[in-house]
Amino acid sequence: MSQFLLVTDLDNTLVGDRAALATLNQHLTAQRQNDNIKIIYSTGRSRFLYQRLTQEETLLCPDALICSVGTAIYLNPDEDKTDAEWDNKLSQNWDRELIVALTAHYSDLMPQPDSEQTDYKVSFCISPSAAKELIPRLKNVLAEKGLKTKIIYSADKDLDILPENGDKGLALQYLREKWGFEPENTVVCGDSGNDIALFSVEPCRGVIVGNAKPELRQWYQEQERDRCYFAQDFCAGGILEGLKHFSFLT
Ligand SMILES: [Mg+2]
Repeated sequence: MSQFLLVTDLDNTLVGDRAALATLNQHLTAQRQNDNIKIIYSTGRSRFLYQRLTQEETLLCPDALICSVGTAIYLNPDEDKTDAEWDNKLSQNWDRELIVALTAHYSDLMPQPDSEQTDYKVSFCISPSAAKELIPRLKNVLAEKGLKTKIIYSADKDLDILPENGDKGLALQYLREKWGFEPENTVVCGDSGNDIALFSVEPCRGVIVGNAKPELRQWYQEQERDRCYFAQDFCAGGILEGLKHFSFLT
């Protein structure tokens, strides 16, 4: 019996090529019947926007849902109830109101809709050129106030400020340990900057889909290659190619 934990980003990783997604779903459904396979979707989307996606695309029901760039974990994706233990980890050294007040001074930062703001994430849209100039200043301003945060810029538009204890990678590590999977039996898949945390938190297998964004391609160039596989195929086709490469699927 094979066992593995599949952790995948949604937009432009699992989702983006419907025919390839249908093929991957078939493989996973067949394998899930006999083997110990768990599936986690890890997305920048809120649960609200995840649910909207499930109305547009045919997605298998995951064993857990990591939303809002790792700042909300749902062990039952059908219930609007986040994992309290994870919330507790995120709440340490986090002051959302102060972050909102400090960032209000920057006109380049356009707040994302309310549905994408969570208790443990403050999110904006900003152009790449403005982000390059503003991110170092923002880091200094937050640090000067004693705030311990992470700033993640992704897909040339999304700027997320997260608690230091929270991102996609740390949320994955929390669930992997909870469920008792080894890093070598864990495979993470992504396409953009906010997935770098997935690839770098621990020595899991990684699949970068063929349509990956420049920031993730650049990260890949700077890494040791054996753990990570850069697929030729795009989206779900790249995931399937990677799962075969690592012999998780035949
Ligand atoms: Mg993506």
